[in-house]
Amino acid sequence: MYLVESFLSVQGEGKYAGYPSLFARFGGCNLKCEGFGCEFVSPLDESHLVGCDSLYAVNEKHFKSQWESYEDAEQLFAKITSHIKDLDYLPHLVITGGEPLIHYKNPIFYGFLELALSQDFSVFFETNATIDVDFEAFGLYKKVGFAMSVKLSNSLEPHKKRINKNAIRHIALNAKEAFFKFVVDEQTVNSGEAQRDIEEITWGVDIPIFCMPLGFNGVEVAKNAPAAVSFCLKNGYNYSDRIHIRLWNEKRGV
Ligand code: SF4
Repeated sequence: MYLVESFLSVQGEGKYAGYPSLFARFGGCNLKCEGFGCEFVSPLDESHLVGCDSLYAVNEKHFKSQWESYEDAEQLFAKITSHIKDLDYLPHLVITGGEPLIHYKNPIFYGFLELALSQDFSVFFETNATIDVDFEAFGLYKKVGFAMSVKLSNSLEPHKKRINKNAIRHIALNAKEAFFKFVVDEQTVNSGEAQRDIEEITWGVDIPIFCMPLGFNGVEVAKNAPAAVSFCLKNGYNYSDRIHIRLWNEKRGV
């Protein structure tokens, strides 16, 4: 198992924006989302890379040298909880990536989840909801919440890769809690693409819908925020800002 980073912060977006949260970011993803247009320089060969704001947790080839490898669930749990040893309360535990559910059957990852739940953490997964979790064989996933950030056309991922209706439905039916969290921008809001996409993805799935503005830094978020607010008001969706980007822009580990 590869841990990219772990840190204590506030949840920056979605239903629990503002909640004290302990983040564990795992390496690897099944998508690329080059449409999000965030630029990085490869630590491997200094090439120019484009993807999402978590590209450093997505692109194994170029960033794996910066990831920490764990062979044991207890060591992994100890590392992640080391950030909160002086707290007298339990923050939410937010498991993110990359796409954390690509590891959902991994015994180290599952053991880590078991430890977290045994210590009464409220656990939330940040997922693109393309992995169809077997909730019967891996029952602990029924005890956690899922923020389903299903990708829209602005990710530039092909439709069949970014939308898995069975995976979405199974999460919504089985998880302790689930909600949608979509990234929208001015252009796809104005063209009607965002609405068509979201209506298709959410059809028949009765859980809360949050929309938040696309952006890698405060300037881009501010540019897309008015369109996101209007879009939410028009459709009865919930608006979510992106606190961490407003406060810290591209900075990692916050
Ligand atoms: S699914 Fe999420 S982590 Fe993976 S590339 Fe897309 S935005 Fe990044």
